[in-house]
Amino acid sequence: MTQLDLLRDDLRDLEQAHLMRQRRNNALPCAPLAVVDGREMLAFCSNDYLGLAGDPALADALAEGAQRWGAGSGASHLVSGHYDVQHTLEQGLASFIGCERALYFSTGYMANSGVIPALVGRGGAVFADRLNHASLVDGMLLSRAETHRYPHLDLAALERMLQASTARRKLIATDSVFSMDGDVAPLPDLLRLADTYDAWLMVDDAHGFGVLGPNGRGAVAEAGIASWRLILIGTLGKAAGVSGAFVAGQTELVEWLMQKARTYIFTTGAPPALAHALLCSLELILNGDERRTHLEHLIALFRGRLQLKRWQLMPSRTPIQPIRVGDNAEALALARALWDEGLWVPAIRPPTVPVGSARLRISLSAAHTESDVERLASTLNRLEHSL
Ligand code: PMP
Repeated sequence: MTQLDLLRDDLRDLEQAHLMRQRRNNALPCAPLAVVDGREMLAFCSNDYLGLAGDPALADALAEGAQRWGAGSGASHLVSGHYDVQHTLEQGLASFIGCERALYFSTGYMANSGVIPALVGRGGAVFADRLNHASLVDGMLLSRAETHRYPHLDLAALERMLQASTARRKLIATDSVFSMDGDVAPLPDLLRLADTYDAWLMVDDAHGFGVLGPNGRGAVAEAGIASWRLILIGTLGKAAGVSGAFVAGQTELVEWLMQKARTYIFTTGAPPALAHALLCSLELILNGDERRTHLEHLIALFRGRLQLKRWQLMPSRTPIQPIRVGDNAEALALARALWDEGLWVPAIRPPTVPVGSARLRISLSAAHTESDVERLASTLNRLEHSL
């Protein structure tokens, strides 16, 4: 058996467990309409919650940014790859969020996997919700700190772990909106625990930024909490419609992260044109109440129209509306049946979600219309009887 034979076996195992992931080539810009292999599809799978990714104003800003700053940054931020426009973006993000300072990262994955090791290391402890995003999990593993994963939203279990820990440096990490479930973490209660046990509280607001809270300021603003303990992560490739992420918090915290986060330091800075587009996106988010109201209406409409018995619509007030199917093969068959009807909804299977909880992850966007949502709901209602 060579290495290649071993790999072929592994691929076969994935296939047999219905765990092969599939990639499709979309020929249209990001919007609910997609064209895949020449077929028009209505998509319910992007994180473009406000419908900004395809907004002409952002495309214009990106083009203008490229004209002004060129295509690439040329170096890492701390060498010569940092630009005035990125500095302006950081200031805009910090004031939008209501934090002292923000640091712009190339991706959310890099922000999460860089921030945790910069703050806690060997001898420290990280406390993490079991359903946290993979990038927080990886940051935790990279930190070499003790890891404590508490059952989803189980604050009593978290408190027991905090109580038992003798670590000096402690960090609690949580998604705000859980990416595969759509439910929201109890942020004020988490902050209370962080206060009691003197821990940092890192909140990954990837799916809340732009959507929740006043003017889309996110889940932390919605919860109405503030503290020097809060490390706020926002991603800019979802509701913001572009790409990148930021960490926001107290001045000293952000300064330290700039000095120590390896995923910030040892990588080429993102193209400055993206920051120019993101400044435009920040304006659109700030003035995006109409989009957010429409989105809320679509969420209520979808939940009201579905009548499922065999599959379970999971409790969620956010644009992430998962339907739990359970079995991998059945979730795939459902996604395929929807695909045949021209509806593009991804089936999410382990290891992204726990074994036995395969699901459809429906995401709604302000770019959808009422009739898009009604079409999806009625197709699902019908398929439950015919599949
Ligand atoms: N956190 C969460 C909760 C996410 O869902 C994602 C992306 N799926 C990320 C972080 C990573 O962000 P990015 O795509 O910018 O790397």
